[in-house]
Amino acid sequence: MAVVKPTRTSSIAALTGAESSRGTEKDASSPSGGGSRWLHVLLDETLERQQKLWNPPRRWYRGSEAGDTCVRSLTLSVMGHSVPVSSQTKRIFRTGNAVEDANMQTMREAGIVIEAARKDKQHEIRYTDPPIVGHIDVLARKPTEDNKRLLGEIKSINSFGFKSLPSEHDDPRVNVKNLMAKKPGYICQWSIYSGAPNLDLPEGFMLFEEKNVQSQLIYMLERDDDLLVEILERMREGTKYILADPMLVAPIPKDRNPRGADEQCRKCSRKYLCVRLPDEGTTYDEVRRVDAEVRS
Ligand code: SF4
Repeated sequence: MAVVKPTRTSSIAALTGAESSRGTEKDASSPSGGGSRWLHVLLDETLERQQKLWNPPRRWYRGSEAGDTCVRSLTLSVMGHSVPVSSQTKRIFRTGNAVEDANMQTMREAGIVIEAARKDKQHEIRYTDPPIVGHIDVLARKPTEDNKRLLGEIKSINSFGFKSLPSEHDDPRVNVKNLMAKKPGYICQWSIYSGAPNLDLPEGFMLFEEKNVQSQLIYMLERDDDLLVEILERMREGTKYILADPMLVAPIPKDRNPRGADEQCRKCSRKYLCVRLPDEGTTYDEVRRVDAEVRS
């Protein structure tokens, strides 16, 4: 199993342009050293070491990948390519999971949760064209009106992000439009879940909780079918690559330029690999070989 080695963070940071969470303090990693730095380093490296560089390849998209607007990046993701994150980011994710669990518990106590067949599992969504599998956060039932079924997503967010969110609006279509401007990835993910043929839940909500003071914003949402078609079309563009035998990475999209001043490419954590692969795409084995030259 490929794992992130304890010293891997700095090289990943160099590749992606990110900074190590503890920088050069890792030099003081000896348990015999003074102060608490050895414990910081030990805990950080434990979190970093747990992350794989590659996951098993899939032949389907995850619902959470719906917000990725680059088909080449999507195909790398489906191949199993993974970029480790810093220990600090891992702790942020851990807190996010705890926020989700706490809100799920409250919704259960409020009696609005429709449980999946297995109570410890989330409801699954499935598409065949393009092939997508995902798991929604919560399927709820509105206790008023007509017991309407609602698709809910729970997101934790830092104070800076929370303050930049739009106001809640009574019209769910306005909420979709406003959130699409601020958090397009989340709305794309919710839209894919919402349109899944096996559930078809055109209405729902997105709950944001501010991580340090637990303020909440809850947006009622109604699916925008035009947006859903747009997302599905984009994912269909990548289907021929993820179903090919051997599996292929897609070419660099015409509207992307990873070697120029392309803002999306600049922020892309796969850029270090993307620029080392042939522009026209290549096979899974070749992607693994090129990546191993850089990250092994
Ligand atoms: S660097 Fe740009 S073209 Fe390459 S995968 Fe990332 S977003 Fe796509």
